[in-house]
Amino acid sequence: MKRQGDIALGFSPQQRQRLAEIGLDEDALAGTFESAEERDARYEENHRGLSRTNVERLDTLRTERRRPVLRTVETVLIEALVAEGFVEVATPLMMGKGALAKMGIDEDHPLWRQVYWVDGDRCLRPMLAPNLYYLLSHLQRLWPPPVSIFEVGPCFRKESKGSNHLSEFTMLNLVEFEPVGDATDRLRSLAHVAMEPLGLDYEIVETDSGVYGATLDVEVHGIEVASGVVGPHPLDERWGVTGPWAGWGFGLERLAMMQTGGSRIHPVGRSLVYLDGARLNVQGTRPASYPAAGE
Ligand code: ATP
Ligand code: MG
Repeated sequence: MKRQGDIALGFSPQQRQRLAEIGLDEDALAGTFESAEERDARYEENHRGLSRTNVERLDTLRTERRRPVLRTVETVLIEALVAEGFVEVATPLMMGKGALAKMGIDEDHPLWRQVYWVDGDRCLRPMLAPNLYYLLSHLQRLWPPPVSIFEVGPCFRKESKGSNHLSEFTMLNLVEFEPVGDATDRLRSLAHVAMEPLGLDYEIVETDSGVYGATLDVEVHGIEVASGVVGPHPLDERWGVTGPWAGWGFGLERLAMMQTGGSRIHPVGRSLVYLDGARLNVQGTRPASYPAAGE
C-alpha cells in the first residue's frame, strides 16, 4: 500500500462521500496516494468522469428508455406473471394492527419496531402477505384451483441505514394456492418464471425468516432479492386458509440494483436525490435545442 510517512493517504471524508454519491465503487474509494496533490488530481478526474456518466444516464432516460429501471423491472414481472396465469390485485397501503397480529407480529416481534404507525390502529404496510392471505381466504371458495394472485406496490419499514435497505421499497408478492404438483417444486419454478425474463443469474438458498420460519431465498451475487415459503403453514389457520400454496416476496429495488450492476439501493429507489440511478446535483450542459422530429 502507498503511504505518506506511516499513514495511508486516502480520499478525505468529504471527497469520499461525494465520489460515493456519484457512483465510485468501493475499491476505487479505498485507493491510497503518494501525496495530497496526487489524491486531489485523482478526485477531480473521478469527479469529472462520474459526473459525465450521471449526465449520460439522465440523457438515455430522456431519449431512449423513458422509464426508470425500477418501473421496467415491475412491468417485466407483471407481464411474466400474467402470462403464467396470475391475476394482479391491488390492496390498501394502510394496514390494521389486527392484520399484523395475525401474522404473529406483536410488540415482542423484531419487525414491530420497524413499523410506521399512522394512528393507534393503522400502519403503513410493512409487507403484502396479510392482504393476500385475506384475499385467499375468499378466493379459495370462489375460484377454481390453482388460485394464482400477485400484488406489486410500496411497503414501509424503518431500517437502520444500509446499502440494501430503503424505508420505502416496492414489494412484489405472489402466491399460488393449490398448485399443480408439489408446492416446493412450484415455488422453485415460480422463481424461474420471475427471474428468467429479467436475465439475472440467481441461486436459491435455504434460510430462516422471523415471520415464517424455514424459507427459501433467491440470491443474486449473494444478495437476497426474494424470500419464499410454502404452505400449509402454521399461520394459515388464523386466516382460514386450508391447502398447499407457494409464495414469493420480491424486492424490486434490489432487482433494479442488480440489473444496473450497482452496489447501492438508494439510487434506484424512489428519490428526489437520484433519478433512475443518476445523481441530480451534477454539472451538465443543457442541449442547445430541441432535436428535429424523428432524430
Ligand atoms: P433483509 O433480511 O434483507 O432485511 P427481509 O428478509 O427482512 O430482508 P422480506 O420480509 O423477506 O425481507 O421481504 C421480501 C423482499 O423484500 C426481500 O427479499 C427484499 O428483496 C425486499 N426488502 C425487504 N425489506 C427491504 C428494504 N428495507 N428495502 C428494500 N428491499 C427490501
Ligand atoms: Mg427475507
